[in-house]
Amino acid sequence: MTASNTIYIDMDDVLCETARAFMVVLEREFGKHVAYEDLTTFDLGKACGITQDEVDRLFELAHAEEVILGLTAKIGGKDMLRQWADRGYALAIVTGRPPGLYDVSHEWLARHQIPYDDFIIVDKFGRFRADDPIAISKDALAALDFCLAIEDSLEMATYVADRMATPVALMDCPWNREDNLHPRITRYSRWEDMEGVL
Ligand SMILES: [Mg+2]
Repeated sequence: MTASNTIYIDMDDVLCETARAFMVVLEREFGKHVAYEDLTTFDLGKACGITQDEVDRLFELAHAEEVILGLTAKIGGKDMLRQWADRGYALAIVTGRPPGLYDVSHEWLARHQIPYDDFIIVDKFGRFRADDPIAISKDALAALDFCLAIEDSLEMATYVADRMATPVALMDCPWNREDNLHPRITRYSRWEDMEGVL
């Protein structure tokens, strides 16, 4: 195996504060208040006490262009990526966002001056059509080489650590606070703390 110098960087709740924005939409549209710290499962229906139809509606509303473009950037992300880019690492955004958000995601990255070399949409959670021309499967992802992955999804972090034998920096979030992490996964609370990981 060749030593890769490419870093895998997830977008939602790694580069931007997506869950917090989803909770604002939830309150506005459904009149339900769920605190960020109470999002203790990746299953939004369970975490928010809403039906699958309501989850689908929430995703639809939260994927509106103005919501996505309005997402707050997580502090320290841009600076860390710049530092890694300066040191010669290649940066690949690896997102599970639906292909329909391709353009608006690029726009958000540009507005926030986040450097990246590649942008890959992966069907991380089995939500897309199998024949979607833009997205790749998790199997196809596993054929790619990365030196580090940064994720907030415990399921994806474990997949990358185990199946892809790649070290993972897990961005600490209420929904991933599991004690028994795969040995290749390290938890980080803030971007700044990742200095020195590479
Ligand atoms: Mg994410």
